[in-house]
Amino acid sequence: MSPVAHSGLGLLGWRLFDRKKTVGTLFVYILIANAADVDFLLHAIFKGHALFLHQYYTHNLLFVLVLALAGMFLLADGRSRAGLVLTGVSHLAADVIVVDTLPPVGIRLFYPLSGNFFNLPWFPYLQRGPWKVMASTRNLGILALELGIFVLPVLLVLPKPLWKRFASPAFWKV
Ligand SMILES: [Zn+2]
Repeated sequence: MSPVAHSGLGLLGWRLFDRKKTVGTLFVYILIANAADVDFLLHAIFKGHALFLHQYYTHNLLFVLVLALAGMFLLADGRSRAGLVLTGVSHLAADVIVVDTLPPVGIRLFYPLSGNFFNLPWFPYLQRGPWKVMASTRNLGILALELGIFVLPVLLVLPKPLWKRFASPAFWKV
């Protein structure tokens, strides 16, 4: 999925588990929610180096757990830290349900213990490629779908609207 869906899951984790609820802890949650996609960035920078093949070396439990454990030091209490770990794992759960058309299909959840690929495809995928392909109506529709499913409910449906928190001075204290 795109950073839209992953950031929505980061926001959800922060909303449900974080005790401090500041802009700093929100940043940590959203960073960990998206962290596994660092390979996408590195793949673009290093012009397709095999080490940064998308969803190959970073989309596994070990990678997200190590990063979440590192991020945990920035949070003050056990509940917030446990929520951060779940948020890291949510990246894999979200990606595993996306239709994957590019081989290797799926993600290696238990790498390096096992090289088995997992994919339970039903969620539509974003087409990658040149800007013309990326900015297609189809991709915009999928981004809108991700926004509608993963972001808007967290902002609007949960009992205490987040807007109040965002407006409070305490939110902006790091
Ligand atoms: Zn991913």
